[in-house]
Amino acid sequence: MLDHGIGESLMRVRLWGVRGSLASPMTSAQLRDKAKALLAEAAPADLANEKAIERYLDRTPHSWTYGGNTSCVEVSFDDQVFVLDAGTGLRSLGASLMADGRGAGAGLNLFFTHFHWDHICGFPYFGPIYLPKRAIGVWSGRSDAAALLANQMGGAHFPVKWDTLPSVITCRQLKEDQVETVAGAQVRILSMVHPDKAYGYRITQGGRSVCYLTDTEVSKNPFRLAESYSKFVAGADVVIVDAMYGFLEYHDKVNYGHSTIFNFIDFFKDTDIGELVIFHHDPMASDAAVSQLRNDANRYKTVIAPNATWSLSAAFEGQEWDFEKPKRKAGGAKAPAAKAKKSTATGRNAAKR
Ligand SMILES: [Zn+2]
Ligand SMILES: [Zn+2]
Repeated sequence: MLDHGIGESLMRVRLWGVRGSLASPMTSAQLRDKAKALLAEAAPADLANEKAIERYLDRTPHSWTYGGNTSCVEVSFDDQVFVLDAGTGLRSLGASLMADGRGAGAGLNLFFTHFHWDHICGFPYFGPIYLPKRAIGVWSGRSDAAALLANQMGGAHFPVKWDTLPSVITCRQLKEDQVETVAGAQVRILSMVHPDKAYGYRITQGGRSVCYLTDTEVSKNPFRLAESYSKFVAGADVVIVDAMYGFLEYHDKVNYGHSTIFNFIDFFKDTDIGELVIFHHDPMASDAAVSQLRNDANRYKTVIAPNATWSLSAAFEGQEWDFEKPKRKAGGAKAPAAKAKKSTATGRNAAKR
């Protein structure tokens, strides 16, 4: 019996790692700054009892963080788990799957945008790969995924070698012009603009779609890409994009293979999507800097895309959307309050800041 609480009618999208390039755990100095702000801004009534403290922590911007793990997104439905990228966030996802029974019991497919370290280095720490005879599908736009994953576990890099894994891992290549059906879901890829090649994804199941477009430098060819990206994401419930840099920072990072959110706001200003999500945060960006970027993006959206119906958020670890069948329009976290986990509640607060 799998105890994941998703049920037959839900598609759950959950973010386990949202940083780009390199994991960036919070430092003691950053934690201390948050603690200082929490204490300084608390009114006596906020600390009166446990419930009051919880309410205060839900309300304050100082009680949470966007998170430091690199790219990893879970898309779950029925008894299937899809994983987009295997950054350091994958370790916690693996632990969660092992705890709720899905590590052994659910269908499990991993989809890779590309094989830069920040998108693969959680793979050796993913619990299900150590389960005997456990079937795992690995998908990517490349034909050499097995060799690339084996390489990071080979030589002097990792003590357990790819060839000795007891699970049964099958690597398959996706083609850009084809729709692949995987465990009843439709999977499409789109070429990204990135060193060594990357592919974005659209996963559609039961009338719901999630798009994941990282890593990519769209300002290289914005006029051509605006149309193809917009077509690719049209009708999606949530669209997660590489928006690593602010407008000014980007100009110091041309050719790094990453984007600003402002390009995507231009691209999708007339596109029917539910929510646009700033993702692959710069590891150097503080929580305050990511919030500032999100605020700037919202201001830009108000000017450039005043009629857009979609919402905008900055990705954080634990951010979660539940999409019911049939598809509901107008984005945002849709978990019914009664079912909301603590992380989702934090998410609603985070989205306001
Ligand atoms: Zn990356
Ligand atoms: Zn990359």
